[in-house]
Amino acid sequence: MQLFYDPDLTTGPHVLREEEAAHAFRVLRKQVGDTLDLVDGKGGWYQAEVTSINKRQCVIDASLIKLEELRADYGVTLLVAPTKNIDRLEWVLEKATEVGVDRIVPFVSEHSERKKIRTDRLARILESAMKQSLRAWLPELTDLRTYEDALAVGQFGQQNFLAYLGDDNTPLLHHTARPGNHVTIAVGPEGGFSPREADLAKAAGYTWVSLGPNRLRTETAAITAVHTLNQLNW
Ligand code: SAM
Repeated sequence: MQLFYDPDLTTGPHVLREEEAAHAFRVLRKQVGDTLDLVDGKGGWYQAEVTSINKRQCVIDASLIKLEELRADYGVTLLVAPTKNIDRLEWVLEKATEVGVDRIVPFVSEHSERKKIRTDRLARILESAMKQSLRAWLPELTDLRTYEDALAVGQFGQQNFLAYLGDDNTPLLHHTARPGNHVTIAVGPEGGFSPREADLAKAAGYTWVSLGPNRLRTETAAITAVHTLNQLNW
């Protein structure tokens, strides 16, 4: 199934969002009378008939098929330090969306090598991953925060974790996280969290957790954590 996304979708006649219209016309060669499947990123699934289409505009007649409630039984918030190589962060956003994440909070910390991101470009990656994985909810992506701010945003999870390469006694995430909870997990940059940052997290109610015996790259750690938290709830 080829899914289209338009955050402003309504039932009845609707002018499709420009990028999606271009894709429908140029790539998929949609014509008047063809059917489109769409989501609005807020749980709405729609089906629509193309009523007019050309290279500039696509008008559809849309019907709401179902309204999917936001998953309430558990939730995953990922705090992640953007990687020096932006492709690796983009990979995290794409894969985390496919596997299941509700909110992503990028942050700059003491050892961060990347201190700027283009949130608009990254938002497109989330949209495309949502469509690809046939989801109707678009994860929230916040702007780049300071480490302290990100901890504060994530603090409202029922369980809050810092993925930390501390010592051998650090408990494993999959032994510590409980199913049925809204969980926040923070993953550091290539240079890791400083001891001061680790202590700051602890003081803010974050439990240090291990993701296993190996030192993972930031992007691997982020996806491992997101996958572990989802698996606990599947
Ligand atoms: N030299 C850094 C250090 O010793 O902290 C390595 C950082 S690692 C490449 C990047 C981030 O991934 C870490 O800050 C941590 O959040 C996470 N991470 C990687 N492997 C991990 C593991 N086995 N357990 C917990 N967190 C891990």
